[in-house]
Amino acid sequence: MATVLTEPNAAKSLIRQTKILIDNKWVDSVSGKTFETINPATGEPLAKVAEADAPDVDLAVKAARKAFHSKAPWRRMSAAERGKLLYRLADLIEKNIDELATLESLDNGKPQHVARTADLPLVIACYRYYAGWADKVQGKTIPVNGDYFCYTRHEPVGVVGQIIPWNFPLLMQAWKLGPALACGNTVVLKVAEQTPLSALRVGELILEAGFPEGVVNILPGYGPTAGGAIARHMDIDKVAFTGSTEVGHLIMKAAAETNLKRVTLELGGKSPNIVFADADMDEAVEGSHFALFFNQGQCCCAGSRVFVEEKVYDDFVARSTERAKRRKVGDPLDRKTEQGPQVDNDQFTKVLSYVESGKQEGARLMCGGERVGERGYFIAPTVFSDVKDEMKIAQEEIFGPVMSILKFKDMDELVERANKTIYGLAAAVWTRDIGKAHNIANNVRAGTVWVNCYDVFDAAAPFGGFKQSGIGRELGEYGLQQYSEIKTVTVKL
Ligand code: NAP
Ligand code: MG
Repeated sequence: MATVLTEPNAAKSLIRQTKILIDNKWVDSVSGKTFETINPATGEPLAKVAEADAPDVDLAVKAARKAFHSKAPWRRMSAAERGKLLYRLADLIEKNIDELATLESLDNGKPQHVARTADLPLVIACYRYYAGWADKVQGKTIPVNGDYFCYTRHEPVGVVGQIIPWNFPLLMQAWKLGPALACGNTVVLKVAEQTPLSALRVGELILEAGFPEGVVNILPGYGPTAGGAIARHMDIDKVAFTGSTEVGHLIMKAAAETNLKRVTLELGGKSPNIVFADADMDEAVEGSHFALFFNQGQCCCAGSRVFVEEKVYDDFVARSTERAKRRKVGDPLDRKTEQGPQVDNDQFTKVLSYVESGKQEGARLMCGGERVGERGYFIAPTVFSDVKDEMKIAQEEIFGPVMSILKFKDMDELVERANKTIYGLAAAVWTRDIGKAHNIANNVRAGTVWVNCYDVFDAAAPFGGFKQSGIGRELGEYGLQQYSEIKTVTVKL
């Protein structure tokens, strides 16, 4: 196994691949352009990466279409063989786990040890989970009227465009590639411009695993150019997008205006995290801290509206503030670090502007709210109390280490307030009362509800949003539905 390099310049030696992957070949962009990806811990450039745009997307789609041809190796391969390739990819990722965790940390800013123990194991599990499904995607026989034999085939959708964000680069790649490949699709994947490096390294492992030409194409590039070209492309059959709700609207519009490609979206959230007075307070405080601050607060499902019952409100605020003050912010390559930098200057500035808005609208700043250090994009863990429903910090996705704590009196008022948002991605409840737990689980409109826990993810458990948090589900058996077309075959007997 590779050793963990803890010095940024030594770690930079891990960057080996910066080109575009099309048809199993590493190529420069058609324009010859490159862009810089930076290390958010220092603000310094890490590498120049080939910048894909519409002409590169065209080439990738041609390769993916050719690979989808009924006579191409990928389509002639048995489903079990497809599964074997995915298992092989999972094994190769596991073999290179330290290196990948370090790359992820360098490019994204998340602590290396967190990438190593949280992101990467989930990545590997996701590929293995879908490897197992490859030969279990099957149709039904249907007892229709008359003398006919009727059955369904679950066929791949075709060429699939996938656009992923920067907050969990490797994991989002796995959530996208795993089910798409298990079902037999071919893929044109655009990775986020902030964090292209780890996905490109996985591209090398995809070649090493032996996937046929054109099955997986990986394009680093910008959203409006390369991403837009995918969303508008006439020969892409489906687009799967994870990112902001704002861009989700654009993706759907582009699909509507072109070829009605299938659209699945995993978008933003403003998830209610509800703490009842009867909860185990130690667990509720620590769990709520994790729910918000994990991954520098850059989680679509972050527990960003913490509703606390009146009776324990002051105590909860005091303990959460104390915990946030203890959170260790610093070098992502240091094992003791709990929180690294925000991913880039845009996010850093945006988060700090939300802090200003919270102060101006009368929320009480308990701790944090400012930059840490002189370089990089570090923000001190921030807690606001006395937050009101209408405040911007209680309505909009901050995507940073800023906790908003609101007060509630009773269940009826609470459910209504918890649902008063355009989002519906996740929710959590902390209580010892099973009745309260189920009441929340049933009545909060969200795709995932956690009871006395948070951010528990498993490749087998579906994830996705109600309302403007998205369309469709990823992971689990449900995730396969988004990558299959159902064909009905009726045979006269
Ligand atoms: P974003 O713009 O939605 O980016 C997500 C992905 O979409 C990236 O690959 C991005 O490319 C691409 N993209 C951007 N504009 C596009 C367009 N017009 N057509 C097609 N693809 C496009 O998100 P962001 O700017 O990185 O972050 C902004 C906010 O989005 C965050 O503050 C947060 O609130 C939310 N967000 C949510 C998630 C999530 O997991 N649901 C993840 C990240 C961000 P580029 O890399 O070039 O931008
Ligand atoms: Mg970067």
